[in-house]
Amino acid sequence: VGEANAQYVVSLIRSIPDFPKQGILFRDFMPVLSDPRANHLLNEALIKALPVQPDEFDTIAGLEARGFLIGPAMAELTGKGFVAVRKAGKLPPDTLAEDYSLEYGSASIEIERDAIHKGERILLVDDLIATGGSACAARRLIEQAGGIVVGCSFVMELNGLHGREALGLDAVSSLMTMP
Ligand code: AMP
Repeated sequence: VGEANAQYVVSLIRSIPDFPKQGILFRDFMPVLSDPRANHLLNEALIKALPVQPDEFDTIAGLEARGFLIGPAMAELTGKGFVAVRKAGKLPPDTLAEDYSLEYGSASIEIERDAIHKGERILLVDDLIATGGSACAARRLIEQAGGIVVGCSFVMELNGLHGREALGLDAVSSLMTMP
């Protein structure tokens, strides 16, 4: 997308100290989406950076909530469908669930039981990977459904939290790394 364009997109990412709690530097990419030019560039960059070719995956799965903001656009641009990985309690039955631990406590994510068929190759997307806990849980959930996570795409990757290693997948792309 070019250096000037990349810088333009990066300039729109807001960094908010101590949100949602003390010590977290929250990276907010919403202003990128609300800017038509930056939104277009973001989608273009995500497609250029795909960690696997479009013929190597069948479906895009996005994590609630910000994975829902990029996944459907990426799915449309690659001619695929989109599956929502939701927080627990939002989907009607039947669902499959996977629990994972957070810094304090735990969380659960769900998909519709028939959302993914056996052997379906999935590209998992989210706005940001930090520890990789959410993406790992989503991967387990997709595998529980019989799918295969063949790659992961992120807009942002936080340094030093070893999210990529936690995922243990070769095909992982992020557009930018940040502290
Ligand atoms: P993790 O499971 O630790 O990889 O965290 C990734 C998930 O938490 C993603 O869904 C992100 O949207 C969110 N997240 C974690 N850290 C941040 C941060 N510093 N800024 C914005 N979102 C974050």
